[in-house]
Amino acid sequence: MNFDLTDEQEQLRDAVRALGRRYGHDYFVARAKAGEHTTELWAEAGRLGYLGVNIPTEYGGGGGGITELAIVCEELAAAGCPLLLLVVSPAIAATVINRHGTEAQRKRFLPGFADGSLKVVFAITEPEAGSNFHRLGTVARRDGDDWLLSGRKCFISGVDEARYVLVVARTEDATTGRLKPALFVVPTDAPGLTRSKLDMEIVSPENQFLLYLDEVRLPADALVGESVDAGLPALFAGLNPERITVAAMGAGTGRYAIERASAYTANRKVWGGRSIGAHQGVSHPLAHAAVQVELARLMIYKAAALYDAGRDLEAGVSANMAKYATGEAAALAVDTAVQVHGGAGMTTEYGVATLLGAVRAGRIAPVSREMILNYVAQHVLGQEKSY
Ligand SMILES: Cc1cc2nc3c(=O)[nH]c(=O)nc-3n(C[C@H](O)[C@H](O)[C@H](O)COP(=O)(O)OP(=O)(O)OC[C@H]3O[C@@H](n4cnc5c(N)ncnc54)[C@H](O)[C@@H]3O)c2cc1C
Repeated sequence: MNFDLTDEQEQLRDAVRALGRRYGHDYFVARAKAGEHTTELWAEAGRLGYLGVNIPTEYGGGGGGITELAIVCEELAAAGCPLLLLVVSPAIAATVINRHGTEAQRKRFLPGFADGSLKVVFAITEPEAGSNFHRLGTVARRDGDDWLLSGRKCFISGVDEARYVLVVARTEDATTGRLKPALFVVPTDAPGLTRSKLDMEIVSPENQFLLYLDEVRLPADALVGESVDAGLPALFAGLNPERITVAAMGAGTGRYAIERASAYTANRKVWGGRSIGAHQGVSHPLAHAAVQVELARLMIYKAAALYDAGRDLEAGVSANMAKYATGEAAALAVDTAVQVHGGAGMTTEYGVATLLGAVRAGRIAPVSREMILNYVAQHVLGQEKSY
C-alpha cells in the first residue's frame, strides 16, 4: 500500500497551488460580485496544461487520469478558487466523449479540452424528474438523419461560458418502443435553445441556468457514440469522475477555510497574552474539521486510484463515499471557520463566509447526500430500494 503521490503528481500539485495562490480568493470573489467569470485563471491553467491533465496525449492532453484532475480541482480550491466548471467540462464532458464518443468526436473535441479552450457543460437535471433520472422528459426524435430535441433542464452550470452543452435526452428504442437515454452535444447558440439565469445564493463567478429546448435540430453526429446504445454507458461514465472531482473541490475548500481560520485564531488576542486558538473551545472544532477533511481526502484519492486502474464498480462505491464525506466535511470546515472568526467571519474581507453557499450546495449537488446514502444502503449494505 502506498499513500504517496508520484513525483510528477507532487510537481503538478505544487505548480497548481502556486498558480491558484497567485489569483487567490479575493480575485474569485471580486469576479463573482462583478458578475464576471474567472477567464484569466481558466485561460492560464489551460495554457499550462492543467485543464487537460486527464486527456490522452495523442489529443494534446497530459495523459494522466482522474487522480491528476482531482489534484488540480483540490489545489485551486485550496487557494480559494473552487471552479465548478472543472467538474463539468474536463471531468464529465471530456470523459464521456473520450470513453464513448466516436473517433471523429474525439478528434473534434478532445484537443479543445486539452488546452482548456473548449468548455462543454452538462445538462441532466430537470424540474419534474429531480433526482430520479428514469423520469427524464427531454425527448430526442429522429427527423430524417437529424435529431430534434425538446424539453427543459434546470440548474445547468456555466451555459453562458460554454460553446456546447452535453444534453441527456430520451430516444425511443425501435425494437421495444421503450424510451432510453442518449447524450447529445448541443451548441449553446443552437436555434430553439434558450436559457434564463437562476438567482442563486452562492458567491460564485459560475452561474446556473434554466434551459429550454424547443425542437432543437441537430445533425446525426451530435449523438455521442455510434448509436443510441452508447447512451447509458456514456451517462454512467461521467458519474465517477464527477463525484471524485467535486469531492476534491470540496476538500480543497475545506483546507482553505481551515488554513484561514487557523491563521486568524493563532494571532487574535482578546484575553490578554494568549491567542484565542489556545482555548480548546476554539481549537478543537477546527481540529475536528481538519480530521474530517483529511479522512475525506483519503477516500477521494482511493476512489481516483481505483477509477484510474479501471476498477469502475469499486470506484463507484468509493467515489460516492468520498462525495458524501467531503460534502459534510467542507460544510463543517467553512461553518467552523466562520465561527472562530467571530464577527470578522461574516465579512467579505476575511474570505470565509463567501464560501457558505457553495459548501451548502455541495451537500445537494451534483448528487444529494440522501441519494448517496440510498446508494450505499442498497449497493454496500444490501438493503431493499424504497422508491
Ligand atoms: C450549484 C448547483 C449546480 C448544479 N449544476 C448542475 C449542472 O451543471 N447540471 C445538471 O444537470 N444539474 C446541476 N445541478 C442540479 C443538481 O444535480 C440537483 O439539484 C440535484 O441532483 C438534486 O436534484 P433536485 O434539486 O431536483 O432535488 P430533488 O430530487 O427534488 O430532491 C429534493 C430533496 O429530496 C431528497 N430526495 C429525493 N428523492 C429521495 C429519495 N428517494 N430518498 C431520500 N431522499 C430523497 C433529495 O436528497 C433532496 O434533499 C446543480 C445544482 C446546484 C445547486
